[in-house]
Amino acid sequence: MSLTNACWDTHDFKVRMLDWSAARGSRLAFTCRYCGRRFCQFTLLSQAAWAVDGDGKALESAVSTRWLGEACPHLFNLKDDEDRKQLRKT
Ligand SMILES: [Zn+2]
Repeated sequence: MSLTNACWDTHDFKVRMLDWSAARGSRLAFTCRYCGRRFCQFTLLSQAAWAVDGDGKALESAVSTRWLGEACPHLFNLKDDEDRKQLRKT
């Protein structure tokens, strides 16, 4: 898991378990108390976390990459709402 990422550590996450599967482990939702950004990650896969919207739907990988590469902005910003509309195509 890439939880030692320096940007990741600037957020103050509330962590909640969404569901569980034998293959992938728990799916955890990380919601930051400061900026409201939300990410998901499986506990058993080495896959990096990805950004999700308020309903837990995955966002475009460009948004994930950007959010994961930024330190916590410490505020809710309107641009994030625009980012949250860019759902990953399934
Ligand atoms: Zn944050």
